[in-house]
Amino acid sequence: MNTPAKHQPNILFLFSDTGGGHRSATEAIIEALNLEYGDQYRTEMVDIFKDYAPPPLKMLPALYPRIVRAPQAWGLGYHLSDGPKRVSVLSASAWPYVRSSYRRLVREHPSDLIVSVHSLANEPVLRALGHERPPFVTVVTDLVSVHASWYHRWVDLCIVPTEAARRRAIKSLLEPEQVRVVGLPVADQFCQPPGDVEELRQHLGWPTDRPVVVLVGGGEGMGPLEKVVQAISKVNLPIALVVIAGRNKALKAKLEANDYPMPTFVYGFVREMPDFMRAANVLITKAGPGTITEALNAGLPMILYSHLPGQESGNIPYVVSDGAGVWAPRPDQIVGALRNWLDNTEQYDRTVDACKKLARPNAARQIAHILVETLEKHKRKKEFSVA
Ligand code: UDP
Repeated sequence: MNTPAKHQPNILFLFSDTGGGHRSATEAIIEALNLEYGDQYRTEMVDIFKDYAPPPLKMLPALYPRIVRAPQAWGLGYHLSDGPKRVSVLSASAWPYVRSSYRRLVREHPSDLIVSVHSLANEPVLRALGHERPPFVTVVTDLVSVHASWYHRWVDLCIVPTEAARRRAIKSLLEPEQVRVVGLPVADQFCQPPGDVEELRQHLGWPTDRPVVVLVGGGEGMGPLEKVVQAISKVNLPIALVVIAGRNKALKAKLEANDYPMPTFVYGFVREMPDFMRAANVLITKAGPGTITEALNAGLPMILYSHLPGQESGNIPYVVSDGAGVWAPRPDQIVGALRNWLDNTEQYDRTVDACKKLARPNAARQIAHILVETLEKHKRKKEFSVA
């Protein structure tokens, strides 16, 4: 007699490619679930805009890089919409327009657990699910200045990366027992010891005789990366420079067309970010939450040169006040910060230690455990209510 196939619970992840952070965090949790539980759970990722939203919302992932290139307007929108009442008014007015799309999403993806890794997934999907629904967990991917739309009172659990994010959750009317401070999930490789750095650099084709500085502007290659490269080139520091233009193809082409006095390597969107961070000595970056958290886990000191007003504003004091990096918004300040670390290795080493102190390398695995606990608890509750 054939034994019936064991039910493999399905975990649905809601995210969107608006920036790189939501996808990276989602993939990190899925990786942790696989590492901790093998193939016990089936996982699925749905882009809430690209896959389901009606137009023009559907185009948001494609338009996002252009939208955030007007950071002041973005910041204004962020502040005007921030607050539980404002979010609820905006969501209620959008509901008639998105209702049928999100009802279709929940119909087409029956799940045992839903994990929202995007602030704008919470309201429409919770509404579309109605009362009889699987447990719903939010994983917040902003560090400090978290927008109120991340916090929905109907969720079973809201997992946040920092104590500051927990305080904002309570201010946004979540109950303390709905919130857990765990950390921001990043790929397991960022959290592993670097191994043989020389070998890693040889593998990447980078020099082994000088410090390597990596410059990145999030997944979209945002910020004045070209000006920063020019400023570093002008002073010809004894470093190798790795520039990651992300999905910004025009920037990549421009950077590749130039000559540089120091060894310089230009990339588009790279998949090997963990190797890059573990092989580097300094990271120059915009204050993206994903990149910051990855660098902290890799013990990589940071020079932050810009931030997206609104959700990234709090990330600068978060890094700087604990000594894990410096804020240098002008290219000459970046050069000064680099010089300082090159000349003052003790200070550089203290910054490496500060990164390691702020890191939460177990966040992704802890989140995987919490998700499974939530799923199992719900299953027991259901069985009990049937009995
Ligand atoms: N990233 C990547 N390859 C690239 C550029 C960026 O994998 O070429 C990843 C980076 O490691 C991070 C994410 O994209 O995980 C960027 O997230 P962050 O929150 O820093 O910024 P966002 O792009 O969301 O504004």
